Amino acid sequence: MIIDSITFLPKYDATFEQNAEYLRQILPLMSNNKIAADPLNFAIFYEYIIGRNIHLNNELDELLGKQTVFTSELSIKLFKKHICDNSINSLEKINHTLLQLINKTGEAIDATGEKASAATIHFQNQSKKLESNQGLSEIKTVLAEIIAETQYLAETSKTLQVQLDESKREMQFLRQELAQARETAKTDALTGLFNRRAFDQKLTEYIETHKQNNFELCLLILDLDHFKQVNDMFGHQAGDSVLRYTANLIKQHIAGHHFAARYGGEEMAVIMPNTSFNKAMEIAEEIRSSLARYPLKRKDNKKSIGKVTLSIGVSGYKINDSIESLIERADEAMYRAKSNGRNQIMAENFG
Ligand code: GH3
Ligand code: MG
Ligand code: MG
Repeated sequence: MIIDSITFLPKYDATFEQNAEYLRQILPLMSNNKIAADPLNFAIFYEYIIGRNIHLNNELDELLGKQTVFTSELSIKLFKKHICDNSINSLEKINHTLLQLINKTGEAIDATGEKASAATIHFQNQSKKLESNQGLSEIKTVLAEIIAETQYLAETSKTLQVQLDESKREMQFLRQELAQARETAKTDALTGLFNRRAFDQKLTEYIETHKQNNFELCLLILDLDHFKQVNDMFGHQAGDSVLRYTANLIKQHIAGHHFAARYGGEEMAVIMPNTSFNKAMEIAEEIRSSLARYPLKRKDNKKSIGKVTLSIGVSGYKINDSIESLIERADEAMYRAKSNGRNQIMAENFG
């Protein structure tokens, strides 16, 4: 079923020790701001402390600055807006409309069924009357009754048909909405790339289905360099624009069968099936060099943001690789690119 593939759970992969450290920061923060430590609020403050969700952090900073009271409505709003993705709202809408549709159609069918059973009883009575050797005029009366009843039934079934046609149209509309919600559930709202969940699903799917075969698959992990500075110097809006710009640039350079996702805050990843390691390195270099070529300008005031660069790590699938090991090697290569001076690409360590 389509709905099965939509999940709204955020993904957490911090270690036991990291989580212990987060906990030490979250609890005093919540208690100082008099926030009830219920699971929803905890999730919101957990996201805040790990700092991967800049829009949540900005809104929360503002709310805490104003000493806003955390009502349960506010918690639900924040949770839905920043932690579950927006598609949950459209799914709730679809669910509601679907229930209404089922009820309406059910009622129409019930009403038609009741009328049909009443008509059956009438027909049985009329047939009994006919069996008991009636005179011509009585037969005429019974016939007239039967005709009237038949007409009434025909109209009832026509009404049902109209209602069923309308339900069918609404169903088609819902199907489109659902398809859209499914897309939204896979897409990162800011960049339009696939989101982390879709990335995990896709990589699992590739590795699971191709495990037995000898196949080529490469992975790029791309992280913007000193991105915090971009935000600090030019503001978050400008930071967001840079993220969108970089995402588009990545899309322009990869092949149609490649799969680009926003992996984390300012980190992106590309899954490249049926692509040789050399080709993956070549594309990574094209992305890096075309971003680094020109300083970026702000659209609103045309002021320069300066050159924005990327560090990129590349890994290639090996037999018995797990998703984690493949990601780990690309990640490790990306960090080597960082420590080697940034604005460069590094291949995984072939040891
Ligand atoms: P490095 O070169 O080592 O990667 O440095 P960095 O500053 O890029 O890395 P760091 O992890 O210190 O900071 C990442 C920054 O990315 C912090 C956060 O404010 C910013 N960021 C994450 N997500 C978003 C977003 O959606 N929009 C904006 N504008 N900034 C974001
Ligand atoms: Mg960075
Ligand atoms: Mg990063």
